[in-house]
Order: sequence, then structure tokens, then C-alpha cells
Amino acid sequence: MEPGGVNATIISCGDELVTGQCVDTNSAWLSMRLLSDGIVVHEHITVGDNIVRISQSIKRALAQSELVIITGGLGPTADDVTREAFAEAIGSCLEVSSEAGRQVTKFFERLHRAMPESNRRQMLIPRGCRVLRNEHGTAPGIGYESGSVHAFALPGVPGEMKPMFEEHIAPIICGRSGGGTMIHARLLCMGISEAVLGERLSDLMARGRNPSVGTTASHAVLSVRIVSHGTSAEEAQALLDHDIRDVRRRLGEVVFGEGEDTLQLAVANLLFAQRKTVSTAESCTGGLIAKCLTDVPGSSRYFLRGYVTYSNEAKMELLGVSEQTLATHGAVSEESAREMVAGCRTHANSDLAISMTGIAGPDGGSPEKPIGLVYIGLADKTDVQVRKVLLGDHLGREETRDRACKNVLNMLRLHLLGAASHAH
Ligand code: ATP
Repeated sequence: MEPGGVNATIISCGDELVTGQCVDTNSAWLSMRLLSDGIVVHEHITVGDNIVRISQSIKRALAQSELVIITGGLGPTADDVTREAFAEAIGSCLEVSSEAGRQVTKFFERLHRAMPESNRRQMLIPRGCRVLRNEHGTAPGIGYESGSVHAFALPGVPGEMKPMFEEHIAPIICGRSGGGTMIHARLLCMGISEAVLGERLSDLMARGRNPSVGTTASHAVLSVRIVSHGTSAEEAQALLDHDIRDVRRRLGEVVFGEGEDTLQLAVANLLFAQRKTVSTAESCTGGLIAKCLTDVPGSSRYFLRGYVTYSNEAKMELLGVSEQTLATHGAVSEESAREMVAGCRTHANSDLAISMTGIAGPDGGSPEKPIGLVYIGLADKTDVQVRKVLLGDHLGREETRDRACKNVLNMLRLHLLGAASHAH
């Protein structure tokens, strides 16, 4: 979908990016931020700290885009070469800027520190460019304009780059998208495969449709991304709201949140609303479920206690699991999960309790009890249910424990929604 307006390129500079030591989050943030103003980014370029490569990338971007944003390489050391590359790309030269000089000096004065000599490099700005104030660091940014083309260089540190974007770039691009407004939403789902999700939304996912609808999967959470484009903000919002309602209707309780929501937040909100308390008895997740349940501020209102019962002795001593159950069925069994959760709820005197026992690997699997096998118990005041889940033996220990935890949280969420019978 093309809004028909500004065409943007983002260039990230730094050896740490191309060597894989640092993940380029600036480009992702800038793309999302620009999209919210209706500007589509067509290209991300990542370049190491090399003057020729950076200047060639800038030149190429300037020939193809009306908006070019460069991040990184504005530091005081010799390997920070974005200033030189920027000057070269626009056919200019570096000169000492009194404005940049004032800003860099003022930054050190504020900290009551002597300015190292190397910071003088940051007073150099390509002739014909604007100096962009940096309130959070030493490196001033660079602004350049030629006809309808704008280019900016900002520091790489995200905490400096983002406020500088808002102060110096957002006011300029505001209203320049030409093609109206673009807004987006993300619905978060758990308990459905990406294939089934795709089938339920296939007509909405047709190419060229407005809003555009797409799905992505990350660590067992599926996201449905809806991007809506309208000639006005109201039109874009109406289209977006319509699709959000439609997707929610099609997916039902599979949707647990929007945007930056988490499963634990969804569970917490239900516990808050129903004024219910919960306790946990964990084996293979080692306290992870209790950690997640207490991630949410105010969790003391619903979370009573968490048992980490790794050994058989602990399961017997703290939860009252019978020795015979452990001897006959083993710690990883439906029977143990049942006795763990029942004991946990009784001892904690909570409305709800959950238990988790399983094999996280990489050792300990057998044909009958493979790695990734977990039993989840859920008890309320009248009933105990246990679910067997096979997460597979391919995930690795950390991911297995993360998935096990998410399965528990989702089971609890569905139970609270009164929809446990629909879960799978
Ligand atoms: P400053 O002088 O304020 O440090 P700078 O422009 O010199 O700014 P860089 O030296 O390029 O910034 O990067 C500093 C740090 O910022 C990097 O080590 C990295 O941690 C982070 N950073 C740089 N570029 C990115 C990026 N594209 N995405 C995420 N983090 C980044």
C-alpha cells in the first residue's frame, strides 16, 4: 500500500551493527514512528564505520528518497565518521560550527566536567547544514535540506535519537505524507496455530486491501497486525476500528490483548475484576510462573504465594503429594500435577491454584516421557483439572520453560473467562 507521499530511507551506521554485536532497533523504531505519520520507509541500510560506504549509501538514498534519516557514528572518536561521510555525500565540507560548539560545551558544563579534547570533533558540521540540539548527549545532530529532500543525521544511542526525532524531524514531516494518515494496531493471540489463524483471516489478508492485515509469530504469541490508510485521520481510524472488531469477532477468546499487552496483564486484569486470588506450585519452571504473575503492578492483590518444589521431598513436604503417587507415576505425571495443585490451593487458601511439572531438557527425556512434556494443573474451590501438553523436544530448555509458562497463563486466562472448555 502506497500512501503516495514521502518516500523514506533509513541508514544505520556502526561496526557494532554489521558485526552483530548490537541489534539495530533504531530502524525499526523509526519505521514504526514514520508509519504513524503516513510515511512509508522503503529501505533500511546498515553500514559499518567506513566513510566511503556511508557516503555512497547517503548519496544513493538522497537520489531515491525525499526523506533520509541516518543514525549512529556521531561520537567523538576517530571511528565515528558519519559527519565526514554526510559532508562528502552532499558535496560539502566540514567546518567548526559555533552553535555546535556552544551545545557541546554547555553539555559538559551542566555535568561540571572538563570536556575531553576529542569532543571537539562533534563541533564539526557540514557547511550548509543545520545543527540539531541533543539534550541527552554530546553529539549534535545534522539537518540538511535541498528542494523537497530532507536528510538528518542523529546519534545512535536510542535514548538520544528518539527525543531528537520528535524535536527536529516530526514537526517537519508532519503533514508531508501527502497521502493522508496511516495508523496501525496489533492484536495478540495465544492458543491457535499461525496456519489456522491465517485461514480464519484469509480474506482480510488479501494483498492490496486497505486495511492490510498480516500475522507474525514470536515465542508462541501470534500477532495480527492491521495497518489502515485513510485520506483523513477519522477515515483511517474508522477503517481500523472496523477491522479490529471483525478480527476479534472471528478469533474470540484467542485474542488476549493489543499493542504491548502481555498474557500476565490479561490474567491480572481478570483476577482484579473478579477479585480472585491465586497461588502456584512449580517444578520445571522453577518459579517463572510466579515471576510472571507478579510482573504486574498491584499483583499483591491477587498473588498469595508460590511454591518451587523441585525435589520429590519438597512436593511431599510442602504440597502433600503422596509418596506412593510419586513412586508409582513419577513426578512428571497427571497424578502428581493433580496432587500438587490441590495441595497448593488448600495450603495457600487461594481461590485458584496452578501447578506445573514437566521435562524441560536437554536431559531426562524418555520414550514415554519425552522432553517438552508438561502437565498443568488448575484448581478452583470445587474442581481440579489437569492438562497434558507436548511442547516438542526441539525448543531448548529456556524456550520450553517459557512456552510452559505461557500455556499455564493462557489456561488460567481461559478459565477466568469461563471458556476453558474451548481451549486446546
Ligand atoms: P554518541 O556520541 O552520543 O555516543 P553516536 O552517534 O556516536 O552517539 P554510536 O557510537 O554510533 O552513537 O552508537 C552508540 C551506541 O548506541 C552503540 O554502542 C549502541 O549501543 C547504540 N546504537 C547505535 N546504533 C544503534 C541502532 N541502530 N540501534 C540500536 N542501538 C544503537
